Amino acid sequence: MYSAVVFYGVTYLSAGFFVKAVCSGPDSKKELCITFDDGPHPEITPRILKILKEHSVPAAFFVIGKNIEGNEGLLQKTDQEGHIVGNHTFNHSFWFDLKSPSGMKLELKQTDDKIREVLGKYPLYFRPPYGVTNPPLYKALRDTRYSTIGWNVRSFDTVVMDKINLLDKLKKALKPGAIYLFHDTNDRTVEILESFILYAKENGYSFVSIEKFVNKDAYAFN
Ligand SMILES: [Zn+2]
Repeated sequence: MYSAVVFYGVTYLSAGFFVKAVCSGPDSKKELCITFDDGPHPEITPRILKILKEHSVPAAFFVIGKNIEGNEGLLQKTDQEGHIVGNHTFNHSFWFDLKSPSGMKLELKQTDDKIREVLGKYPLYFRPPYGVTNPPLYKALRDTRYSTIGWNVRSFDTVVMDKINLLDKLKKALKPGAIYLFHDTNDRTVEILESFILYAKENGYSFVSIEKFVNKDAYAFN
């Protein structure tokens, strides 16, 4: 659907110079993407979905495979409401980076299989835990069909405790082609989301699907 060949936004995740990732969109248009990591969360994710629906904002959710268990309906709802579901490993272990390439691949496959079981399709977008990339991850991803997705605005929504401060940081970071990193795991994100959406819209920005920035399919059916 996005047929133009584009090279914008292809850069390297954090300082890890090993894995190519899409970290932004074109800086020529007032368009931005929002992404949520670490869900699905039985209490937080539905509240996020509700706000997104009310404001017709598409988003991407990079889910942890083990969190899908018991939240299958929530994952289906996320998909049905037009959001992209991506792979964020199965365990999101702090030690993911110490795994061998085959160990990493196994985790990705576990999450792929779980998403396929629930949504009937395989995710093609992958976000590494903590945004860290290293040579084993490069090897794990080589010859796979994943698009690796980064960000260029980190909200620090799991770290910044003060809502006003958090919202202020988000507003200041507004720029064409921004990809915001949020987490659907805490109350603060829910509390500031609507204000942030309204502020961005008031300033002439529109929210687009991450697919538009990546320019590759988000799913495969086999
Ligand atoms: Zn994460």
